Amino acid sequence: MKSLIAGNWKMNGIARARSEVESLIERFGGSMPGDRDILICPPVTLLAAFAGSYSDEGILFGGQDCHAKTSGAHTGDISAEMIADTGASHVIVGHSERRADHAENDQTVKEKAEAALRAGLTPIICVGETREQRETGIAQSVVGTQLEGSLPDAMGVFVVAYEPVWAIGTGLTPTLEDISEMHDFIRSKTPEGTRLLYGGSVKPGNAKEILGISNVNGALVGGASLKAEDFFPIISAAP
Ligand code: PGA
Repeated sequence: MKSLIAGNWKMNGIARARSEVESLIERFGGSMPGDRDILICPPVTLLAAFAGSYSDEGILFGGQDCHAKTSGAHTGDISAEMIADTGASHVIVGHSERRADHAENDQTVKEKAEAALRAGLTPIICVGETREQRETGIAQSVVGTQLEGSLPDAMGVFVVAYEPVWAIGTGLTPTLEDISEMHDFIRSKTPEGTRLLYGGSVKPGNAKEILGISNVNGALVGGASLKAEDFFPIISAAP
């Protein structure tokens, strides 16, 4: 399966944002390798400009969230159609920061994923347990419940990102065995061919071993996607 390496810029990316994308393209000699998919999810303010400027270089672009409705009285929200209209191809839904900061539950995430599919976007649906849930041995059942509640009913291709909450932005990662076990479990719960990403403190130093695990089909990278000098070796590490 073709790897997907996705950068989640979160609420970062005013200063030097363009030069980081340009530097990444330069490092690949002017156009991105076609044997892996490379996706950047910048803040929505940059999405249209980036998709307009760099799509021909072989980079895909995506949103970090969308509303479940197409349009209407939802001040400050962005619909999946609007994200698709920028030229983006993907949208992250159900990131643990959205679940925590905006009280999004599995049902909300499912509605967003279905809205994304209706708009022609590929949703990247995030799941993952907290540290306490991992320590009490319920990580798999937590992720199982999240998958049951968050995956779309509608037909369409989606991506699942396993992101243990305690590994995000902390420098900590599960053991390779734990990642492998969880990805095998998620594989058993998702349609054949679904790409499964690992996310949570992926760095140049650990990317190769994580991306080498069977049933890990790519990565969702936060902090280390902001600088081309870090994102380039991670993309290059994908099989
Ligand atoms: P991190 O974030 O790579 O900075 O840990 C990953 C994510 O939240 O998607």
